[in-house]
Amino acid sequence: VSRFEGIVMAPPDPIHGFSEAFRADVDVKKLSLGVGAYRTEELQPYVLDVVKKAENLMLERGENKEYLSMEGLAAFNKVTAELLFGADNPVIEQQRVATVQGLSGTGSLRLAAALIERYFPGAKVLISSPTWGNHMNIFNDARVPWSEYRYYDPKTVGLDFEGMISDIKAAPEGSFVLLHGCAHNPTEKNHIPFFDVAYQGFASGSLDADASSVRLFAERGMELLVAQSYSKNLGLYAERIGAINVVCSSTDAAARVKSQLKRIARPMYSSPPVHGARIVANVVGDPALFNEWKVEMEMMAGRIKNVRQKLFDCLSAKDKSGKDWSFILKQIGMFSFTGLNKTQSDNMTNKWHVYMTKDGRISLAGLSLAKCEYLC
Ligand code: PMP
Repeated sequence: VSRFEGIVMAPPDPIHGFSEAFRADVDVKKLSLGVGAYRTEELQPYVLDVVKKAENLMLERGENKEYLSMEGLAAFNKVTAELLFGADNPVIEQQRVATVQGLSGTGSLRLAAALIERYFPGAKVLISSPTWGNHMNIFNDARVPWSEYRYYDPKTVGLDFEGMISDIKAAPEGSFVLLHGCAHNPTEKNHIPFFDVAYQGFASGSLDADASSVRLFAERGMELLVAQSYSKNLGLYAERIGAINVVCSSTDAAARVKSQLKRIARPMYSSPPVHGARIVANVVGDPALFNEWKVEMEMMAGRIKNVRQKLFDCLSAKDKSGKDWSFILKQIGMFSFTGLNKTQSDNMTNKWHVYMTKDGRISLAGLSLAKCEYLC
């Protein structure tokens, strides 16, 4: 009998769990709207031209494969913080940001969670309801207590602003408030804003515009945390490249925080991978490649915006129930939160071969103009 007999089967992941079911589905109409990964209009994966160019440069230069230090590639850490805050931001000039390369957005959130667990014992993280499903797992595994704040209003399929503010006000003093780039002011109770920036540039098409909420908080002189990811905006999903940034009120505090982040990384994975870090450093550090990246990102964001508009147009034209579909146009970024419940989402999959998460979220990046009609 196995010594592992007591280990039960883990449940399938709500987002990645149905990849196999999708592959096995032989219906030509099938649509994969579960995972948030950019697809072309032909619904194929996309490697950015600037990424290929940066990789060629790296090959030509014959870069080595030596270990990075615990904090990652210095050139990457420099450009990633500049990209987020703007190079001329006082927090950068005054060296008040502790930046450490992380294993993409997830790994960077996990580092921050470990920092919170170690140095803010008992502090709660407030998470929007709903949120990206992995947030709960990350804080559970890091043993950081969390609770939800109201965010979604089913009546408008929009924001419950009053509910959000009152839940943040009711939270214990000194809580961390996890935000997806939406700007509100949680200072009243010494809360610490904690931004998850997984889509910089992908929402509006502009890197600066999508960083504006983070910059606004920094401008107000607040201390804050920001996790970054290059999965979507540079299409580096499998390279696992991102960073955790902690903005502190002094240079000294930033140096101490950085030293502790490195210490947390060491027993977790020792040091991060170099390939994605070099790609980002090369693209952002080279004015020509940087400009090309912006053009490609506008193209990707633009395709999603077109799909969003088309989906709205189709639904408004076809649906005679009088339902107001304008929430689709008010939402931004890669996803649409449809308001479909679990039964309806199941029905979409089981009857119509449309694979989506059970909370009613669909990835518009997995949809093409040609398929809008069918989905509608
Ligand atoms: N945060 C949010 C809100 C996300 O949607 C994602 C990606 N789905 C991530 C973080 C992290 O993704 P990754 O680890 O690939 O950077």
